[in-house]
Amino acid sequence: MKKQNKKQTRVKLERTLILLKPDALDRGVTGEILSRFEKVGAKMVGMKLLVSKKDTAGRHYRGDIAERYGKKVRDNLIKMLTSGPVIAMVWEGIDILTVVRKMVGSTYPSLALPGTIRGDYAHISKEYANANNVGIFNLIHASATPDEARIEIDVWFKPEELIKHKPLYTHYTLREED
Ligand code: UDP
Ligand code: MG
Repeated sequence: MKKQNKKQTRVKLERTLILLKPDALDRGVTGEILSRFEKVGAKMVGMKLLVSKKDTAGRHYRGDIAERYGKKVRDNLIKMLTSGPVIAMVWEGIDILTVVRKMVGSTYPSLALPGTIRGDYAHISKEYANANNVGIFNLIHASATPDEARIEIDVWFKPEELIKHKPLYTHYTLREED
């Protein structure tokens, strides 16, 4: 029988891009939303408040949005994202893409479960939004896949804007080695 290699490979932490969209700033709930990611024990490694240029918003909401929902929805989304300040953040953690998407909840707030960000802070339905020709203002964006996260982190942050640090609480929640 072959000798087992006892040395375990450490699983790397993942990074995700989170945007608090202009409606989150309008509603004055950015601190409440942000604190949820701290409470779950994830680590913020990048953060900025800015008004997005149209070009930046277009690189964030790319062609696949138009393929999925039509050009009009993408145009409305870009208009929405550039309509006021946004907070762009990068958070690091264990399976953080899945964890954050779970915390964010369904794209359509009427379907988002209580306890999720979209379920707790909004309730608009897809049907209502489309019948009234408005976008679905659902407060927050979070990367859906590792590829999406890589592209989106690159859209909003330069590498040197991402901070390497070890807050005390992540010693317990991430169990990082020194
Ligand atoms: N959206 C919209 N109308 C639609 C579908 C989507 O306004 O009929 C917006 C909504 O704000 C959503 C964004 O488009 O957050 C991106 O859509 P996606 O399917 O990627 O949803 P998410 O990943 O944000 O849940
Ligand atoms: Mg998405």
